[in-house]
Amino acid sequence: MSENVEILLQARDIKPTAMRMLILKNMLGFSRAFSLADLETVMETVDKSTIFRTIILFHEKQLIHSIDDGSGAIKYSVCSSNCSCSIGDSHAHFYCLHCNKTFCLEKVAVPDLNFPDNLVPVSINFVIKGFCEDCKMFAT
Ligand SMILES: [Zn+2]
Ligand SMILES: [Zn+2]
Repeated sequence: MSENVEILLQARDIKPTAMRMLILKNMLGFSRAFSLADLETVMETVDKSTIFRTIILFHEKQLIHSIDDGSGAIKYSVCSSNCSCSIGDSHAHFYCLHCNKTFCLEKVAVPDLNFPDNLVPVSINFVIKGFCEDCKMFAT
């Protein structure tokens, strides 16, 4: 991936420090959604609280979105540049029951839910569970 991390940070109104650029570069290195633990593993030398605080900041600034795939750990993925993390921008996610990886399905929009008027939705979590490309031989 050749995204310019400095531009991505500035576009979300985040001051591009060397550490933030490094963390974002590592986030973009994942081809799937990542958890805090995943980032800590690939960034062993970086202070864990720095990684944690950076995730919180990126999430607040809508540079990344969170996914609750039911695995117990919240996962994150870098948002596309035109994403505003509104419900209308939400896409489905796919959770693999074998390797426990979670992927963004950016082209699969969350279906129109015909939501009752008296409730105010803030976020939506649309997770499809199954077997990914690498694990589909385990599907029975
Ligand atoms: Zn899998
Ligand atoms: Zn996603």
